[in-house]
Amino acid sequence: MKTVWEKYPEEARQPIFDLADDYKAFITAAKTEREQVAEAIKLAETKGYKPLEKYKKLKAGDKVYVNNRGKSLCLFAIGKQPLEKGLNILGAHVDSPRLDIKQVPLYEDGASGLAFLDTHYYGGIKKYQWVTQPLSLHGVVAKKDGTLVQVCVGEDENDPVVGISDILIHLAAEQMKKPAATAIEGEDLNILVGSIPLKAEGEEKDLVKKNVLAILKEKYGIEEDDFLSAELEAVPAGKARDYGLDRSMVFAYGQDDKICAYTSLRAILEIKKPERTSCCILVDKEEVGSQGNSGMQSRFFENAIAEMIAKTTDYNDLLLRRALHNSRMLSSDVSAAYEPNFPAVFELKNSAFMGKGIVFNKYTGARGKSGCNDANAEFLGKLRKVMDENKVMFQTAELGRVDAGGGGTIAYILANLDMDVIDAGIAVQNMHSCYEVSSKADIYEAVQAYTAFLKDMD
Ligand code: MN
Ligand code: MN
Repeated sequence: MKTVWEKYPEEARQPIFDLADDYKAFITAAKTEREQVAEAIKLAETKGYKPLEKYKKLKAGDKVYVNNRGKSLCLFAIGKQPLEKGLNILGAHVDSPRLDIKQVPLYEDGASGLAFLDTHYYGGIKKYQWVTQPLSLHGVVAKKDGTLVQVCVGEDENDPVVGISDILIHLAAEQMKKPAATAIEGEDLNILVGSIPLKAEGEEKDLVKKNVLAILKEKYGIEEDDFLSAELEAVPAGKARDYGLDRSMVFAYGQDDKICAYTSLRAILEIKKPERTSCCILVDKEEVGSQGNSGMQSRFFENAIAEMIAKTTDYNDLLLRRALHNSRMLSSDVSAAYEPNFPAVFELKNSAFMGKGIVFNKYTGARGKSGCNDANAEFLGKLRKVMDENKVMFQTAELGRVDAGGGGTIAYILANLDMDVIDAGIAVQNMHSCYEVSSKADIYEAVQAYTAFLKDMD
């Protein structure tokens, strides 16, 4: 068989399209790490998951989640074996490249009388892709009185959208000579948010900006100073869509890595009473290096395991270390799908293709595997056995030709904790652009792969 489509004949494909519909709805409703965590908790609670603090003691079959600051989440389906025997872990990240609103963002351009929000981009982007796109604003504003105001504007079809302009081609003679990296500069990613001046009471300045502030005050009860303690993100506005005349693909913002997050979540939510404890980690800050208290380098994950051990037996540190040592992980992140329009950056034998199933990357990294987690051959051997026994279609790949570029994931961070980890994931096109493309067949097959791993990896 060449593709997953051939594995499932036409009459067996409805579950593939149904799952894709669920996925599109999920990533349309949850475009930021905070929204991902909130939606994942909602879904998990319908399947019987409860916060760890609700349990006095844990036993096999219990469903537990640990919410880390609303930005990262760990889910656990407690197994029959003690935790020190190790967990089967699926990990994916829920942050995606975007434009963050600066702490002092709002200004009015004097010459034009237009009001803007200044941004600082987050993660690796080709800046030229982010201009002339409809953008929405998502996030929270933490007021001094302790209230957290939720902001989401630009997603409802009756909402306005905002955006960043580009110069017309007629006046772009100089711009078009620049390398793509500098044709649009990071400091010029300013979002246009208003053009109507407030009614002047004398010699007032910045009336358009003041009008925007008045709207924010009325709609959200926030003042200009409240931007200081806000996390607002501009992301592409609109819904995830079917792609291709045959509707075989999904076109959506943020599939890196919400496509692996959602499929991992779907897999663990169907696990009932596993042998080994199942775990799903949905984590923030991967796109900027995984640091900070919501990133994978934070100790929140180890702490969560420690808390769980304390709720199953008399805690001691050795039990935690054994639990980590005996764990296995699929670090699930998107892989670069072979691009027929750009064949030069791929090496065919070791490329990932859309529609050919979940991708295992033994290593990622750049410039001679630098920064990679190089999964152990023995672990890969066991993984192949689990996949084959469960008739799961998989492929192996590198991230492009040697020295074409490269990238990293959270894999090495968990491997540093002394467990076996391999990079796994779904192939996407247009990675890190406003709209990434994936195959519905791969989404479906990824859930089968994750389910097989949770049940049968030992
Ligand atoms: Mn990623
Ligand atoms: Mn990425």
